[in-house]
Amino acid sequence: SYVAGIETSCDDTGIAIVDSNGRVRGNVLESQQEFHTRYGGIIPPRAQDLHRLRIKDAFERCLQEAGLAAEELTAIAVTTRPGLPLSLLIGLRFARHLARKYNKPLLPVHHMEAHAIQARMEHIADIEYPFLCLLISGGHCQLAIVRGPGRLTLLGETLDDAPGEAFDKIARRLRLYVLPQYRLWNGGRAIEHAAKSAKDPLAYDFPLPLAQQRNCNFSFAGIKNNSFRAIRARELAERTPPDGVISNYADFCAGLLQAVSRHLMHRTQRALEYCLDPKNHSFGDAHPTLVVSGGVANNDAIFANIEHVAKAYNCRCYRPSKKYCSDNGVMIAWHGIEQLLYDSVKNLRYDLDSIDIQGQAGFLNSSVDD
Ligand code: ATP
Ligand code: FE
Repeated sequence: SYVAGIETSCDDTGIAIVDSNGRVRGNVLESQQEFHTRYGGIIPPRAQDLHRLRIKDAFERCLQEAGLAAEELTAIAVTTRPGLPLSLLIGLRFARHLARKYNKPLLPVHHMEAHAIQARMEHIADIEYPFLCLLISGGHCQLAIVRGPGRLTLLGETLDDAPGEAFDKIARRLRLYVLPQYRLWNGGRAIEHAAKSAKDPLAYDFPLPLAQQRNCNFSFAGIKNNSFRAIRARELAERTPPDGVISNYADFCAGLLQAVSRHLMHRTQRALEYCLDPKNHSFGDAHPTLVVSGGVANNDAIFANIEHVAKAYNCRCYRPSKKYCSDNGVMIAWHGIEQLLYDSVKNLRYDLDSIDIQGQAGFLNSSVDD
């Protein structure tokens, strides 16, 4: 079977077609980055306009790439939550239109669940349910036991910012975007690249958040505020011009990456210990497989650090290929394929009008909140 996945939860229009063997038949991703960079952030009505403008053409190009006709699709999967309501609406309307026109089932997809299970598409033999997932993205930071599509048990989540959000805000405050090579990059990617030329990664001090708390929650506000203060102090000390970047920004970025890694490692270690404790019956005698996903999983240093923790507990560690870590249509289509694999067909005939952008229909009753 073939599932088309439609993703419009934020600022990327993603459409893809994936088959039941996890092969990507077509993949179209239209980024709005260039547009939003000009205005210093995402303006929801503009994001909606761009999705509306591009979605039909993206779908047609995707079919063409796949060499398929719309009639040959088995189902249409679409992100229904969480995300910007105006953006989600465009994807949902388009998906509903396709489902009606071609008489196909419409599968609502929870965006974070799609991030969580994406790595299975390429590692189906290695990542069995249940597995432990560290979800690190632009809007979320969660540790969860994933038991199936639509079946997550949350162990902990961020109390304030998400790591990607912190990277984006700090990169903007550093004004990395004035450096031509970073003009069109997201904050996390720019920080990762800048950190590579650090000479003294210990030049700045960062806190270790929630060090005393015996749970799996996260907090990035302290690291973020500490960063703002340190950048300000450095700018004053060396009289950085108002449109300039502090001279040792690379050292700063390396220190920041280490601080974020340390916090993620610390909390992941707690989650692994929880899962390995026989009292909790999470995985029987098996060692959980750890999956790192979401846009921040792109980061090689962070992934290597997390992998290191997993190895120390004899657990295997995976992430999706980089092109599938950040938002895309493939992960939505793959979630649709998993819905087909794991749920009986009778569940698939939704009343099309009952699905709204809250996506409460069907089996989307996971414990991951929006
Ligand atoms: P969510 O999935 O929580 O709704 P989102 O969809 O906006 O949020 P993603 O597309 O999963 O988020 O990830 C985008 C985030 O990933 C951005 O905040 C970006 O800074 C971060 N990111 C991307 N590449 C890297 C990298 N190489 N290192 C660190 N962070 C990165
Ligand atoms: Fe995302």
